[in-house]
Amino acid sequence: MTVRALPVLELPARSATGGGEGPRVAAELEEYVVGPESLPRFFIWTLGCQMNHSDSEEMAGALLAAGCAESGSPEDADLVVINSCAIREAAEQKVIGRMGQLAELKQARPGTRVVLTGCAVREDNRHVLRRRYPSVDLFLRPDEEPELVARLGLATLTAPGLMAGMAGHVPPTIARVGRSIAATADRLPGTRAAAVAAGSIRRGSRWDAWVPVIYGCDKTCTYCIVPFSRGPERSRPFDDVLAECRKLARAGVLNLTLLGQNVNSYGHDLPPEQRFADLAGGRTLGRRIDTTGRPDFAALLRAIDALRLEDGRPAIARLRFVTSHPWDLTDRLIDAIAECPSVCEHLHLPVQSGDDGVLHRMGRQYSVEAYLRLVQRLRSAVPGIALSSDVIVGFSGETDRQFEATLELLRTVRYDQVFAAAYSVRPGTPAARLPDDVSPGEKRRRLNALLELQEGIGWELNRAWVGRRTEVLVDRVDQPSAHGEATARGAVRVAGRNRQNKLVHLDGGPELLGRLVDVVIERAGPYSLQGSQVEATIPA
Ligand code: SF4
Repeated sequence: MTVRALPVLELPARSATGGGEGPRVAAELEEYVVGPESLPRFFIWTLGCQMNHSDSEEMAGALLAAGCAESGSPEDADLVVINSCAIREAAEQKVIGRMGQLAELKQARPGTRVVLTGCAVREDNRHVLRRRYPSVDLFLRPDEEPELVARLGLATLTAPGLMAGMAGHVPPTIARVGRSIAATADRLPGTRAAAVAAGSIRRGSRWDAWVPVIYGCDKTCTYCIVPFSRGPERSRPFDDVLAECRKLARAGVLNLTLLGQNVNSYGHDLPPEQRFADLAGGRTLGRRIDTTGRPDFAALLRAIDALRLEDGRPAIARLRFVTSHPWDLTDRLIDAIAECPSVCEHLHLPVQSGDDGVLHRMGRQYSVEAYLRLVQRLRSAVPGIALSSDVIVGFSGETDRQFEATLELLRTVRYDQVFAAAYSVRPGTPAARLPDDVSPGEKRRRLNALLELQEGIGWELNRAWVGRRTEVLVDRVDQPSAHGEATARGAVRVAGRNRQNKLVHLDGGPELLGRLVDVVIERAGPYSLQGSQVEATIPA
């Protein structure tokens, strides 16, 4: 098979057509059209959050629409796309650690090209990228991902419509974020809409889907690289999001997760409309923003929940969203969570620290007291709601007493799950100018102490599920190694999540994949539950 060595165009190509359908190929030109046998096989390696996974679905869809084939491993690929995460040093080190292997691959297959995108690629760090990632041929900022196909020279007459998001190439908009500059995600809502209309998003599951609703972040958490890598917030138009959700409901999706770095601030940047005239108010965040007449996240949740089946049940059985900044968790949003039957009884509400001084240095814009008030309001509005959180230990200047305050917060809130990490300096963030003065050993000690405490809390909460009946959406067949008991008994087991996002293992085979199953919980561990199926309710 002849494989075309991909060119890498440093300047985005222009659409020959200005987007849309593209011209018909004249008969006399047909012999020049690139045939599928010469198009590359691609492999996408995705790190980090669900937003990255959703972006990768879009890139995979664009490459498939261009006629490329997906490969199961980088060794068999002519094009390796790395969708990176820069939220912690460990994620970046993972990619840096792969550079040698990729160099060997390129030596063995000289036509192979490597693209790096995601949060590691920023407008202001291009000079260090080549040194840090020597095997990479092309760096794309997150807002440049829709250009992937064109920049690889794959947007041809055989791939009409691929350039819809870059008709005539719209140059990136640059915005100042603190002292840095960042490209804004102005083009992403448009390219997403084009990809949805073309049906070109390669979804990883028949029953589970991600839908981005807002790109970028306007917050200024001092440790976080996202505002610099993804730029300020840009909401997708209300009706675009709704149209995508409607399409997914028709396709049989049962579990839909709305995505954004901070979904709660959805809509403030959209133009005001008469239909949202009753939504009045403002937001203060460094600047005063008038949100009157603009949709908010509560309105979006209610509109998606209002998509119904003929029998009145929600067309999408389970609606989830990540991530929520506590600052934007309004009463309107809490009411919507409580009143929309499709919205799951689980909220991920990152707290990061249990000490006001640390929160202030982190730029989190809330106090521990305000956070606890929110938790109280949520629990009284949605009884039994499960809560999860993110915590950073060992942030600049964190004392023993301040760390103890975080442990105390965990004892008070009693989260179902906590994702904890030791602080690592992210170059380019405001916190990089603060001393990283908690030693690595002490960070490790604090992390272990926190995880041990949380394990006990999680286990206790899980034990309260024993004997209860719960609905599980089965989404995986257990690997024997992931479940010792399954191996011992030789039984095939499956696993999935209930509405409170608890991982539940149960007996059953692949025929249960994509089904909502009623399960009685029989045993509880610190991180998961085990139960037996009562009945399958809804087929995939
Ligand atoms: S809210 Fe804070 S931590 Fe989350 S993406 Fe925005 S700046 Fe980063």
